[in-house]
Amino acid sequence: MNLVMLGPPGAGKGTQAERISRTRALPKISTGDILREAVHNRTPLGCVLKEDMEAGRLIGDDVMIGIVQERLDRDDAVTGFVLDGFPRTVVQASALDRMVDGRGPLVVLDIIVPEEVLVRRLATRRICGECGSNAAVDWLTECGKCGGQLVARVDDSVDIVRDRLAIYRRQAKPLVDYYSTRPTFRQIDGNLPPDVVTAAIDAALADAAARGVHR
Ligand code: AMP
Repeated sequence: MNLVMLGPPGAGKGTQAERISRTRALPKISTGDILREAVHNRTPLGCVLKEDMEAGRLIGDDVMIGIVQERLDRDDAVTGFVLDGFPRTVVQASALDRMVDGRGPLVVLDIIVPEEVLVRRLATRRICGECGSNAAVDWLTECGKCGGQLVARVDDSVDIVRDRLAIYRRQAKPLVDYYSTRPTFRQIDGNLPPDVVTAAIDAALADAAARGVHR
Protein backbone atom coordinates (compact mmCIF):
# COMPACT_ATOMS: atom_id res chain seq x y z
CA MET A 1 0.00 0.00 0.00
CA ASN A 2 1.25 3.44 -0.96
CA LEU A 3 -0.19 5.91 1.48
CA VAL A 4 -0.10 9.70 1.62
CA MET A 5 -1.18 11.61 4.74
CA LEU A 6 -2.39 15.15 4.09
CA GLY A 7 -3.37 17.58 6.82
CA PRO A 8 -2.16 20.71 8.61
CA PRO A 9 0.69 20.84 11.13
CA GLY A 10 -0.61 19.34 14.37
CA ALA A 11 -3.34 17.23 12.72
CA GLY A 12 -1.75 14.06 14.09
CA LYS A 13 -0.29 12.85 10.77
CA GLY A 14 2.98 11.78 12.38
CA THR A 15 1.30 9.86 15.21
CA GLN A 16 -1.09 8.09 12.87
CA ALA A 17 1.60 7.44 10.25
CA GLU A 18 3.73 5.81 12.93
CA ARG A 19 0.86 3.51 13.96
CA ILE A 20 0.08 2.51 10.38
CA SER A 21 3.76 1.92 9.73
CA ARG A 22 3.96 -0.40 12.76
CA THR A 23 0.79 -2.38 12.15
CA ARG A 24 1.32 -2.81 8.42
CA ALA A 25 5.11 -3.09 8.38
CA LEU A 26 5.54 -0.19 5.98
CA PRO A 27 8.30 2.42 6.25
CA LYS A 28 7.09 5.75 7.57
CA ILE A 29 8.68 8.47 5.50
CA SER A 30 8.38 11.89 7.11
CA THR A 31 10.01 14.65 5.09
CA GLY A 32 10.01 16.92 8.17
CA ASP A 33 11.94 14.23 10.12
CA ILE A 34 14.43 13.77 7.25
CA LEU A 35 15.06 17.53 7.09
CA ARG A 36 15.28 17.96 10.89
CA GLU A 37 17.83 15.14 11.01
CA ALA A 38 19.88 16.86 8.30
CA VAL A 39 19.78 20.14 10.27
CA HIS A 40 20.59 18.34 13.54
CA ASN A 41 23.57 16.53 11.97
CA ARG A 42 24.74 19.73 10.24
CA THR A 43 24.98 18.05 6.85
CA PRO A 44 25.65 20.44 3.93
CA LEU A 45 21.94 20.26 2.98
CA GLY A 46 20.90 20.76 6.62
CA CYS A 47 23.04 23.91 6.93
CA VAL A 48 21.45 25.41 3.81
CA LEU A 49 17.88 24.58 4.93
CA LYS A 50 18.12 25.43 8.64
CA GLU A 51 16.91 29.03 8.39
CA ASP A 52 13.87 28.22 6.22
CA MET A 53 12.90 25.27 8.39
CA GLU A 54 13.10 27.27 11.60
CA ALA A 55 11.04 30.07 10.06
CA GLY A 56 8.38 27.55 8.97
CA ARG A 57 8.88 28.26 5.25
CA LEU A 58 8.46 25.51 2.67
CA ILE A 59 11.60 24.05 1.12
CA GLY A 60 11.78 24.18 -2.71
CA ASP A 61 9.99 21.52 -4.73
CA ASP A 62 13.12 20.31 -6.54
CA VAL A 63 14.98 19.60 -3.29
CA MET A 64 11.97 17.84 -1.77
CA ILE A 65 11.22 15.76 -4.86
CA GLY A 66 14.87 14.65 -5.00
CA ILE A 67 14.82 13.61 -1.31
CA VAL A 68 11.60 11.61 -1.67
CA GLN A 69 12.63 9.98 -4.94
CA GLU A 70 15.87 8.82 -3.35
CA ARG A 71 13.99 7.46 -0.30
CA LEU A 72 11.31 5.64 -2.32
CA ASP A 73 14.00 3.95 -4.39
CA ARG A 74 15.33 2.12 -1.31
CA ASP A 75 14.47 -1.58 -0.94
CA ASP A 76 12.21 -1.21 2.10
CA ALA A 77 9.81 1.06 0.21
CA VAL A 78 9.31 -1.22 -2.77
CA THR A 79 6.18 -2.88 -1.36
CA GLY A 80 4.71 0.36 -0.02
CA PHE A 81 5.19 3.31 2.31
CA VAL A 82 3.45 5.87 4.50
CA LEU A 83 4.33 9.42 3.46
CA ASP A 84 3.94 12.14 6.12
CA GLY A 85 4.52 15.76 5.07
CA PHE A 86 4.85 15.13 1.32
CA PRO A 87 3.42 16.23 -1.04
CA ARG A 88 2.71 19.78 0.08
CA THR A 89 2.31 21.33 -3.37
CA VAL A 90 0.68 20.26 -6.61
CA VAL A 91 4.12 20.15 -8.25
CA GLN A 92 5.21 17.63 -5.59
CA ALA A 93 1.96 15.66 -5.98
CA SER A 94 2.38 15.25 -9.70
CA ALA A 95 6.04 14.24 -9.24
CA LEU A 96 4.86 11.63 -6.72
CA ASP A 97 2.40 10.23 -9.26
CA ARG A 98 5.30 9.70 -11.66
CA MET A 99 7.39 8.06 -8.91
CA VAL A 100 4.67 5.52 -7.99
CA ASP A 101 3.52 4.82 -11.51
CA GLY A 102 3.28 1.02 -11.77
CA ARG A 103 3.68 0.51 -8.00
CA GLY A 104 0.03 -0.06 -7.02
CA PRO A 105 -2.69 2.25 -5.72
CA LEU A 106 -1.91 5.54 -4.03
CA VAL A 107 -4.28 6.02 -1.10
CA VAL A 108 -4.63 9.62 0.10
CA LEU A 109 -5.93 10.45 3.59
CA ASP A 110 -6.73 14.06 4.40
CA ILE A 111 -6.91 14.63 8.17
CA ILE A 112 -9.10 17.57 9.13
CA VAL A 113 -8.79 19.51 12.41
CA PRO A 114 -10.11 23.03 13.23
CA GLU A 115 -7.43 25.71 13.34
CA GLU A 116 -7.94 26.76 16.99
CA VAL A 117 -7.39 23.14 18.04
CA LEU A 118 -4.17 22.98 16.00
CA VAL A 119 -2.79 26.15 17.61
CA ARG A 120 -3.46 24.68 21.06
CA ARG A 121 -1.95 21.31 20.19
CA LEU A 122 1.22 22.78 18.68
CA ALA A 123 1.79 25.08 21.67
CA THR A 124 2.14 22.02 23.91
CA ARG A 125 3.83 19.62 21.46
CA ARG A 126 7.24 18.34 22.52
CA ILE A 127 9.81 16.34 20.59
CA CYS A 128 13.03 14.64 21.62
CA GLY A 129 16.00 16.99 21.22
CA GLU A 130 18.21 14.00 20.43
CA CYS A 131 16.31 11.62 18.11
CA GLY A 132 13.45 13.92 17.05
CA SER A 133 10.63 11.54 18.06
CA ASN A 134 7.27 13.11 18.81
CA ALA A 135 6.71 12.87 22.58
CA ALA A 136 3.97 10.43 23.63
CA VAL A 137 1.57 11.67 26.36
CA ASP A 138 3.25 9.53 29.02
CA TRP A 139 6.75 10.87 28.33
CA LEU A 140 7.12 13.62 30.92
CA THR A 141 10.61 15.03 30.51
CA GLU A 142 12.59 12.35 28.69
CA CYS A 143 12.26 10.57 25.36
CA GLY A 144 10.82 7.05 25.78
CA LYS A 145 13.00 5.80 22.92
CA CYS A 146 16.48 7.22 23.58
CA GLY A 147 16.26 9.07 26.93
CA GLY A 148 16.98 12.45 25.32
CA GLN A 149 15.59 15.68 26.73
CA LEU A 150 12.13 16.73 25.45
CA VAL A 151 12.03 20.18 23.84
CA ALA A 152 9.59 22.36 21.89
CA ARG A 153 10.14 22.52 18.13
CA VAL A 154 11.57 25.91 17.16
CA ASP A 155 8.90 26.19 14.44
CA ASP A 156 6.07 25.45 16.93
CA SER A 157 6.33 28.93 18.52
CA VAL A 158 3.02 30.81 18.25
CA ASP A 159 4.04 33.35 15.55
CA ILE A 160 5.65 30.73 13.36
CA VAL A 161 2.71 28.36 13.79
CA ARG A 162 0.41 31.10 12.45
CA ASP A 163 2.66 31.46 9.39
CA ARG A 164 2.83 27.69 8.87
CA LEU A 165 -0.95 27.39 9.07
CA ALA A 166 -1.33 30.26 6.58
CA ILE A 167 1.07 28.50 4.20
CA TYR A 168 -0.89 25.29 4.70
CA ARG A 169 -4.21 27.04 3.94
CA ARG A 170 -2.79 28.37 0.66
CA GLN A 171 -1.50 24.97 -0.47
CA ALA A 172 -4.27 22.72 0.88
CA LYS A 173 -7.09 23.55 -1.50
CA PRO A 174 -5.16 22.96 -4.75
CA LEU A 175 -3.76 19.72 -3.28
CA VAL A 176 -7.18 18.47 -2.18
CA ASP A 177 -8.60 19.48 -5.58
CA TYR A 178 -5.79 17.50 -7.20
CA TYR A 179 -6.69 14.31 -5.31
CA SER A 180 -10.35 14.57 -4.35
CA THR A 181 -11.88 12.99 -7.44
CA ARG A 182 -9.89 9.80 -7.02
CA PRO A 183 -11.65 6.73 -5.60
CA THR A 184 -8.79 6.24 -3.13
CA PHE A 185 -9.09 9.72 -1.52
CA ARG A 186 -10.61 9.84 1.99
CA GLN A 187 -11.18 12.65 4.52
CA ILE A 188 -10.81 11.81 8.20
CA ASP A 189 -12.00 13.77 11.24
CA GLY A 190 -8.78 14.32 13.22
CA ASN A 191 -10.45 16.21 16.09
CA LEU A 192 -11.10 13.00 18.04
CA PRO A 193 -9.04 10.87 20.45
CA PRO A 194 -6.07 9.23 18.68
CA ASP A 195 -7.50 5.68 18.95
CA VAL A 196 -10.78 6.76 17.38
CA VAL A 197 -8.87 8.42 14.53
CA THR A 198 -6.82 5.23 14.07
CA ALA A 199 -10.01 3.16 13.83
CA ALA A 200 -11.47 5.56 11.25
CA ILE A 201 -8.23 5.36 9.26
CA ASP A 202 -8.23 1.55 9.37
CA ALA A 203 -11.78 1.51 8.01
CA ALA A 204 -10.92 4.05 5.31
CA LEU A 205 -7.84 2.07 4.29
CA ALA A 206 -9.77 -1.18 4.03
CA ASP A 207 -12.42 0.51 1.92
CA ALA A 208 -9.95 2.39 -0.30
CA ALA A 209 -7.74 -0.65 -0.78
CA ALA A 210 -10.75 -2.77 -1.75
CA ARG A 211 -11.25 -0.48 -4.69
CA GLY A 212 -7.63 -1.09 -5.65
CA VAL A 213 -7.68 1.59 -8.26
CA HIS A 214 -4.72 3.80 -9.09
CA ARG A 215 -5.71 7.53 -9.17
P1 AMP B 1 6.74 18.98 9.25
O1 AMP B 1 7.48 18.22 10.27
O2 AMP B 1 6.05 18.11 8.23
O3 AMP B 1 5.81 20.01 9.85
O4 AMP B 1 7.84 19.81 8.41
C1 AMP B 1 8.67 20.74 9.04
C2 AMP B 1 9.26 21.70 8.02
O5 AMP B 1 10.01 20.97 7.04
C3 AMP B 1 8.24 22.48 7.19
O6 AMP B 1 7.76 23.64 7.87
C4 AMP B 1 9.08 22.83 5.97
O7 AMP B 1 10.01 23.85 6.27
C5 AMP B 1 9.87 21.55 5.75
N1 AMP B 1 9.16 20.57 4.89
C6 AMP B 1 8.78 19.29 5.25
N2 AMP B 1 8.19 18.66 4.22
C7 AMP B 1 8.18 19.53 3.20
C8 AMP B 1 7.68 19.49 1.85
N3 AMP B 1 7.07 18.39 1.37
N4 AMP B 1 7.83 20.60 1.08
C9 AMP B 1 8.44 21.71 1.53
N5 AMP B 1 8.93 21.82 2.78
C10 AMP B 1 8.80 20.76 3.62
